[in-house]
Amino acid sequence: MEVKNCIKCMKLFNYVSGPSICPACRKNIEEQFKEVRLYIRKNSDASISEVAEACNVDIKQIRQWIREERLSFSSDSSIGIECESCGKSIKTGRFCEACKVQMATNLSSAYKKEEVKEENPYENKDTSSKMRFLNKDK
Ligand SMILES: [Zn+2]
Ligand SMILES: [Zn+2]
Repeated sequence: MEVKNCIKCMKLFNYVSGPSICPACRKNIEEQFKEVRLYIRKNSDASISEVAEACNVDIKQIRQWIREERLSFSSDSSIGIECESCGKSIKTGRFCEACKVQMATNLSSAYKKEEVKEENPYENKDTSSKMRFLNKDK
């Protein structure tokens, strides 16, 4: 069994998978998460730094939960993180709606390009068989 130092408390623990965090710290983080979620529910207009201070949780940790879409906020909440693409304020996840749409468009146009590439050999076959047909007619 692998033994690692916990990145939170530096204690040695039997490592299984995921981030190097011992079971005790993992439990702590879950407790913090519940506290933060509850605080946000009660104080929907609190900022991230207010939540961090009130719950004694690292701002980075809160932002990570938002990125992971574990925390979500009402649209009138002032809490937000930046879209990873354009920097616009968003409530949860990694990208704003506009960037998501943009990315979906990029993806589907890339897919269309692939389709055209795949269709080409068939088109060529069609033309060549038509050519042969025309040749026969002559
Ligand atoms: Zn630990
Ligand atoms: Zn964006």
